[in-house]
Amino acid sequence: MQFSPSVSKLQESQTIAAAKKAKELKAAGKTVYEFTLGEPDFNTPDHICEAAIQAMRAGKTHYTPAGGTPELKKAICTAALRDYQLQIDPSQVIISNGAKHSIHNVLSVMCSPGDEVLIPTPYWVSYSALVELAGGIPIEIFTTEEQGFLPSVEQIAEKVTGRTRMVMLNSPCNPTGVVFPVALLKAIGQLAVEHDFYILSDEIYDKLIYPGAETACMMTLGSEIAERTILVNGVSKAYAMTGWRIGWTIGNPEMIKMIDKLQSQQTSNPCSISQAASVAALTGPQDCVAEMLKAFTARRAFVLDRLRAIPGCSFVEPGGAFYAFFKVSDYFDRPLQGGVKVSNSSDFCTALLEQGQVALVTGDAFGAPGYVRLSFATDMATLEAGLDRIAAFLAG
Ligand SMILES: *Cc1c(COP(=O)(O)O)cnc(C)c1O
Repeated sequence: MQFSPSVSKLQESQTIAAAKKAKELKAAGKTVYEFTLGEPDFNTPDHICEAAIQAMRAGKTHYTPAGGTPELKKAICTAALRDYQLQIDPSQVIISNGAKHSIHNVLSVMCSPGDEVLIPTPYWVSYSALVELAGGIPIEIFTTEEQGFLPSVEQIAEKVTGRTRMVMLNSPCNPTGVVFPVALLKAIGQLAVEHDFYILSDEIYDKLIYPGAETACMMTLGSEIAERTILVNGVSKAYAMTGWRIGWTIGNPEMIKMIDKLQSQQTSNPCSISQAASVAALTGPQDCVAEMLKAFTARRAFVLDRLRAIPGCSFVEPGGAFYAFFKVSDYFDRPLQGGVKVSNSSDFCTALLEQGQVALVTGDAFGAPGYVRLSFATDMATLEAGLDRIAAFLAG
């Protein structure tokens, strides 16, 4: 069969593929210690589920406007004011079926064929794939652990050309957990103003920042930078609502209208019930967020302590999100558990799954060979057993 070239050359999301493999082993009766998926293990808080039930009972089961309900747009504006003292208008907001959909739609309306989109590594799996799908060209900006997995402004400036359309930033970052210092965000923003390109700021982990780490909402860094910022966020990570599929874009009203038009032909509205639940998430009590952050904080401390005790498994301390991204290349080409040898991160993950029954995601998926990603969005008992097994696997 023949398929469209743009989809044929698309790679399956490697995080989802890794999780699938672990599930297959589990289905075959094996115990697998699973650290692949990027989602909170908590269930959605009760008061949010309750709002969804109420919405169904109240007959909110019909189509809503394609770009989302006025109630949810207003709730997003209210939350922006509460959390960031950021004044935005509903005309600057559009709701989509998860932040991934938001990112796809932004790229679809903003990119002309051949437009260049700058992406610092390591980056979230879908960024480069979605840029290509939109007809743009992803331009990677390679960063190292030594530089804290943070691009310098000079590195970005070097890659700016007449075709540069935007830079994609993700602070806190998936997969590294690194948060971008405010001064760096400002400097990148200024570069965008000077060279007339946009900043797509994916702030999906903005509620999961650990004590001591500091970053900022890109839209709060002055009016010139705000005008060039396209902010993406959603309820998935902050409120443990990955399955509900609600994300949003905040930006220039003209761009929002273009996305609205696209969405009206493409998906129509995001789920009406999920939208009602998201209003409750954003405007209801926020202690559930603090409680989840507390649990993540304890798990993070445990995981980092264990990794520090393993020679060569270096990392940059994650300031946010729920991932540890550590180096395994010191263990290439030498005997590991069961005598196996590997020479790259992908083979490392396969061998670890087969020998140690531990599932991680290869750094290759994030443009960072030699590293692996461990998601600590799972319970302590699994983390303890999993880290014992990783240590044993490496000890050979
Ligand atoms: C999880 C995630 C998203 C998308 O979340 P949705 O569930 O689609 O709202 C976007 N960006 C990053 C970096 C993520 O980790």
